[in-house]
Amino acid sequence: VTRAHLDRIAAVDGDLGAYLHVDADAALARAGEIDASGTAGTGLAGIPVALKDVFVTEGVPTTSGSRILEGWRPPYSATVAGRLHDAGTVLLGKTNMDEFAMGSSTENSAYRVTRNPWDRDRIPGGSSGGSSAAVAGHLAPFALGTDTGGSIRQPAAVTGLVGHKPTYGSVSRYGLIAFSSSLDQAGPMARTVMDAALLHEAIGGHDPRDSTSIDAPVPTVVEAARRGAAGDLSGLRVGVVRELGGEGARDGYDAGVLERFAEAVALLEAAGAEVREVSCPAFDLALPAYYLIAPSEASSNLARFEGMRFGIRVGDDGSRDIDEVMALTREQGFGPEVKRRIILGTYALSAGYYDAYYGQAQKVRTLITRDFSAAFDAVDVLVSPTSPTVAWPIGARVDDPLAMYAADLCTLPASLAGVPAISVPCGLSEGLPVGLQVMAPALSDDRCYRVAAAVE
Ligand code: GLN
Repeated sequence: VTRAHLDRIAAVDGDLGAYLHVDADAALARAGEIDASGTAGTGLAGIPVALKDVFVTEGVPTTSGSRILEGWRPPYSATVAGRLHDAGTVLLGKTNMDEFAMGSSTENSAYRVTRNPWDRDRIPGGSSGGSSAAVAGHLAPFALGTDTGGSIRQPAAVTGLVGHKPTYGSVSRYGLIAFSSSLDQAGPMARTVMDAALLHEAIGGHDPRDSTSIDAPVPTVVEAARRGAAGDLSGLRVGVVRELGGEGARDGYDAGVLERFAEAVALLEAAGAEVREVSCPAFDLALPAYYLIAPSEASSNLARFEGMRFGIRVGDDGSRDIDEVMALTREQGFGPEVKRRIILGTYALSAGYYDAYYGQAQKVRTLITRDFSAAFDAVDVLVSPTSPTVAWPIGARVDDPLAMYAADLCTLPASLAGVPAISVPCGLSEGLPVGLQVMAPALSDDRCYRVAAAVE
């Protein structure tokens, strides 16, 4: 299985651009080890997997899509990488991503363009676009991504995959290069709901090395996927979010996306679910709130990249003092989107502006959480389109940050509230995949899998 995937990578990844790093010899050696152990075929043993390059992997180059980390080989591995290793999986390689996970198209990678296997002139989504392209193009059976504002769900949606952002705190962030710590979550990307569920159970659960890790059992998502696949949703109460593509909130949505979404809702009803419209007014403010909170946290998290401890160091030839070397390293090591976010974040956090921007955004975040709580008093899950549009042509939004940010319209509320959300394919528009998003209360990730499996 590993060799077949390596062959496929060798044949198509030159053009597709899904991977940043593949070590075929190491993967084959590891696969041989699993064969020799006699465990292959039990659980995930012997199954290859790809990791977004945001996860640190001991001795394996890790860049987070940034020049500033070029050549860095971490001295330790992320908890989730360790858990996948313990489960017997074989690491195929590290996948491309927007620099520090900032973006929705993977075009912000410092290294290469990643293409959508459905149409190679289109983006594979982002920021986990290397993982989505690898799985959708059959260059990996499944992969891990991270989702801060939609970076698992949106790339999954536009490449026809299942992608799940687990409840915040339910999957360890230890060894995940931080973008916005109060939002970052790791999760599975796969071609089927069951594959995603198997991967989720392998990585989930408490980790004492992550201070926000929840000490609760992993939701039984494999069982939920099995149950959902039987297609019976009777008794389930489903809320259609008015503010996310509902009546009067359709600006920026593709007509085809709204049609597939309506059909998916009809399918849920046919499976026995009780569907009603639910209003979550504060969701309209999710985009501006997110684009203050995430850059604010990023401006603090990225301060550690100063050229002294990790990756590249520029201009250290004895003629400059340490501040000049740090400035030069950052100037050349960070790309334009990362610089934009650092400037935005430091501005929003600065004395005199804090209350007006960061403080306000945190209040909006509370309102969004309250909207979810009220909605989940009335319904078991909420649904919406995952992405307002299908995959767009490469280059179409690179000079328009606001158009790029608009891709996150539907995914941001669940991120800000920390609740689980899954994207599951629900048909094609213009020959390109459309995703249905299913959101559930915190720690009820199993509901996402049940509904997704019924739609699949
Ligand atoms: N597109 C969003 C951003 O650029 C989300 C990214 C993510 O989830 N990592 O911030």
